[in-house]
Amino acid sequence: MGANLGDRHGALRAAVAAMDRLPGTRVQRVSALYASAPVDAGGPDYLNAVAELATTLPPLPLLQALQALELNAGRERPYRNAPRTLDLDILWFGDAVICTPELTVPHPRMLERAFVLCPLADLAPGRVGDAALDAVSAQAIHRLEGAGWARLDPLRFAPEK
Ligand code: ATP
Ligand code: MG
Ligand code: MG
Repeated sequence: MGANLGDRHGALRAAVAAMDRLPGTRVQRVSALYASAPVDAGGPDYLNAVAELATTLPPLPLLQALQALELNAGRERPYRNAPRTLDLDILWFGDAVICTPELTVPHPRMLERAFVLCPLADLAPGRVGDAALDAVSAQAIHRLEGAGWARLDPLRFAPEK
């Protein structure tokens, strides 16, 4: 997830809470919070983080649900890589390989991006690997806060969906 317009921190925290409320979906873990300058675009710095979800939603309905959350957060797409209030991309979906017009998984540009690989490595160091991190080590990125930035409401553990 990423945001570089408006209340970036609030948008990401709200996104974590909203993803946790999607049908058949729970947020399992959230990475640290990172800040970096936009790649191939202007605008304010980005905040980025990666969340691990457990979900019974199939990939395309999950993407559509994430896009609805982006719209709720005021996301507009005036041009490619435009500044945005919220971007929710699917990096991996288990071990699935998906290549459709609407959805490509693994995310086709994730290996080029420190702002993806650094938070992803927090959650899955064994799957990211040092070689992938070395390849993006020239990109400036700052770890702002540990995983506690997105602490989920403990009440969520009470009701079963
Ligand atoms: P990038 O994909 O380079 O990060 P972006 O996130 O800014 O760019 P969006 O405008 O959010 O791009 O999405 C454009 C389209 O990408 C979406 O309409 C969606 O159908 C498609 N898409 C393909 N694969 C994915 C994926 N793994 N996660 C999210 N969107 C995807
Ligand atoms: Mg994106
Ligand atoms: Mg996107």
